[in-house]
Amino acid sequence: MKKLLITIDGPAGAGKTTVSRALAERLQYRYIDTGALYRGVALEARENGIPPEDDQGLEALCKGLELAFIRNENGVRLYSGETDISDAIRTPEMSMMASAVSARMVVRKALLDIQRRMGAEKGAVFEGRDMGTVVFPDADVKFFLTADLNVRAIRRHRELEEKQAAQKFEEVEKDMALRDAADSSRALAPLKPAQDAVFIDSTEISAQSVIDQMMKHIRKKIDDAA
Ligand code: C5P
Repeated sequence: MKKLLITIDGPAGAGKTTVSRALAERLQYRYIDTGALYRGVALEARENGIPPEDDQGLEALCKGLELAFIRNENGVRLYSGETDISDAIRTPEMSMMASAVSARMVVRKALLDIQRRMGAEKGAVFEGRDMGTVVFPDADVKFFLTADLNVRAIRRHRELEEKQAAQKFEEVEKDMALRDAADSSRALAPLKPAQDAVFIDSTEISAQSVIDQMMKHIRKKIDDAA
């Protein structure tokens, strides 16, 4: 059966991670969370005292960076060198800092190469902001998943509560609105649907229903290719 490269773009909290994981599991594909890579750069920048405006510092940092997704007993984890940074990158502070470093050309360029290398072998679901527009313009199936801000903020607030990384709901919603605005209005690889993306609004539908809709498109593509 032909293996596809599937992309899912959209704003924070739209449900990309939940559905990407489910699709990857169902299809036996790899799942690549590209936001985690930007978060990894942000974390290392902070650890090394590099502010998001310091392009030279960021460039040097990216050159020496060894980010890799590695499976261990807790599932697929993000490593920076020998360190598992999967939990450290999930704080509200890292969300905002990832958005700041992701607007810098030096960072996008460095991660573009890494992502394309990861996608050289098909049979993968890539989640991010510019997967269908910039990184994989020739992807086999592209989705743009969104939802109303309030619903996305409720979902993210619940997730943070589960991780005991509590933040007031109003702050979650405010940060999310700021991050979406920055991600959508930046000059480089702004968040927007690819022209040929299937647009899905998850405001009023369950994750399962989103997955079912996506699987229909994917099955059709697989059947057409057979
Ligand atoms: O997806 P996640 O919320 O973890 O992404 C963190 C940040 O990384 C986003 O707000 C965005 O600024 C950046 N990002 C990006 N391009 C991607 C994935 C994430 O610019 N493909």
